[in-house]
Amino acid sequence: IPVDPFDLVIFGGTGDLARRKILPGLFRRFIAGQMPANARIIGAARSDMDSAGFRAMVAEAIAEFGGMESPPQAKLDAFLKQIHYVAIDARGEAGWAELQELMKGTDKIEAYYFSVAPALFGDLAERLQQWGMADKQARIVVEKPFGRDLETAQALNATLATYFDERQIYRIDHYLGKETVQNLMAVRFGNMLFEPLWNAQYVDHIQITVAETVGVGGRGEYYDKSGAMRDMVQNHLMQLLCLIAMEPPARFDPNAVRDEKLKVIRALDPVLPHHIIRGQYDADHDDAEGHPNYRDAVGDPRSKTESFIALKTQISNWRWSGTPFYLRTGKRMSARSSEITVVFKETPHSIFAEDAGQHRNVLSIRLQPNEGITLGVTIKEPGPGGMRLIDVPLDMTFSEALGEDAEQVDAYERLIMDVIRGNQTLFMRGDEVEAAWAWTDPIIQGWEARGDVPKFYDSGSDGTTEAFEMMRRDGREWRKVA
Ligand code: NAD
Repeated sequence: IPVDPFDLVIFGGTGDLARRKILPGLFRRFIAGQMPANARIIGAARSDMDSAGFRAMVAEAIAEFGGMESPPQAKLDAFLKQIHYVAIDARGEAGWAELQELMKGTDKIEAYYFSVAPALFGDLAERLQQWGMADKQARIVVEKPFGRDLETAQALNATLATYFDERQIYRIDHYLGKETVQNLMAVRFGNMLFEPLWNAQYVDHIQITVAETVGVGGRGEYYDKSGAMRDMVQNHLMQLLCLIAMEPPARFDPNAVRDEKLKVIRALDPVLPHHIIRGQYDADHDDAEGHPNYRDAVGDPRSKTESFIALKTQISNWRWSGTPFYLRTGKRMSARSSEITVVFKETPHSIFAEDAGQHRNVLSIRLQPNEGITLGVTIKEPGPGGMRLIDVPLDMTFSEALGEDAEQVDAYERLIMDVIRGNQTLFMRGDEVEAAWAWTDPIIQGWEARGDVPKFYDSGSDGTTEAFEMMRRDGREWRKVA
């Protein structure tokens, strides 16, 4: 179903994110028939080029990152006709009159995607208003990072609020655009089966792991000022934690959902220093490709920035008091994998022999790769061997459960279509972002005050030995990263 006619201006349209995700994603929506014929995509960036040059760049980006064997030429040509470019300076006057002219007098939905360095977010908002493009129907899409602490996030929220209402601001966290994230809500709130068990009485603990195999790559300078806590935990892992732990909202409505998420963040206990482990990747000594260790990669032999975090936290409310939440994320780990795992308690009493092989139920929600949800269930091992028990997965992996043609939509394209539809459910509200920083700030300040130095872990491993010890002390184990 096509969305309503729109004009989408992508500030930073020539940048890395636009070329890898936004533009190829829009092309896939075009092929799916979702983009109306009179919709326009307008690249706006500092690079000096014209619309023809930008179209050539878009075609290249689609060929490289579109994930299609060979994009159908006729479709590609038709898509490119809807693309335009304005060379613009977010901080100066160049290009604004031209953009204003392009956007004048349309009654389409207007969306402005800020895919530029965060230092320019405020300038763009201000310029849009000066040039008469910040009317009450306009929407702005804001990339991460949203501040680097509570103070900067509040300042950014205040700047954006000068020019736009909260209902016009779409703060992107692409983790929320994953199919499985929405399916998590469907599974929790669309079935009778799970919600009665979804609490401290039946859940032993919950783990959230976001593991990457890549290192800091070319982003070393940026990353070293940020670290895993700011870059991953404060936003992506916190958002996943909220969705898994929140109370059922009264309606599936953007503010009802976000109200419940906010309550989770506000109920989080402060993290004790011995419940948070920081790591920094060392080189992998068997690595034939010779990837550098973290400090070489960022060019600072004394860097104290973490590329790995493992932490334990609690949610102090009736539902969760007593159930620990373990969060873990890192670079250069053994596999690329994002997974939420709900580990249920043992049955109160086992009627089977001690060595029969009874397992706990484990519900695992995978965001990547192989998005899907699996529930481990204990059954009898088939055959004449007596009452032997095995754990079998009830598999809700989408490609298997729904067939090969189950539509795979990338997070960015889904979220952009939500912007056009005016649905903010999967976007972070300003107060959520601030509450997440209010929880994160004291942790980071504590490290700074103590001069804390992260421990090393081998590239290709799953983090520091201290992270494993923290789990072992609690009589639990991290799930294998795979
Ligand atoms: P980039 O450096 O590749 O591109 C920056 C873009 O901004 C270019 O198009 C450039 O022309 C434009 N630009 C720079 N200064 C300008 C100015 N004064 N006026 C107008 N345009 C100007 O950056 P990127 O990697 O594409 O990142 C864009 C945003 O997305 C950042 O906020 C980043 O944090 C965020 N982000 C990027 C990624 C990613 O994978 N690249 C992932 C998540 C979030």
